[in-house]
Amino acid sequence: MNPQSYNPLLQQSVPFAQPLINTQITSHHSQNVIMQQSIALGPDPIIMTCPRCHASIKTAISNVPSCGTHFMCLFICILSCGLGCCIIPYFMKSCQSQKHICPNCELAIGVYQR
Ligand SMILES: [Zn+2]
Repeated sequence: MNPQSYNPLLQQSVPFAQPLINTQITSHHSQNVIMQQSIALGPDPIIMTCPRCHASIKTAISNVPSCGTHFMCLFICILSCGLGCCIIPYFMKSCQSQKHICPNCELAIGVYQR
């Protein structure tokens, strides 16, 4: 009776030795922007693991004007004949893009475009 009947040579042929990492790290000047393709960003904060500091975080939202905001400003400015209403889109959350930031290391994770 020999319970160890397996062949040890079978365990030596492992073709997949390289880890699969799909993280793209791009450096733009002094600000590091790490984009993960698999993260679906929305207008609300999401709970995720920060790709830089690896902490479990809830993203902080920063409203940034988008092209649509500037277009809306121009559109309202024409309609209101320059009464100053054109700045309204810059105060409306629904007219702006949401930038997701890690509150731990302040990494810009991504921007949700409307
Ligand atoms: Zn972080």
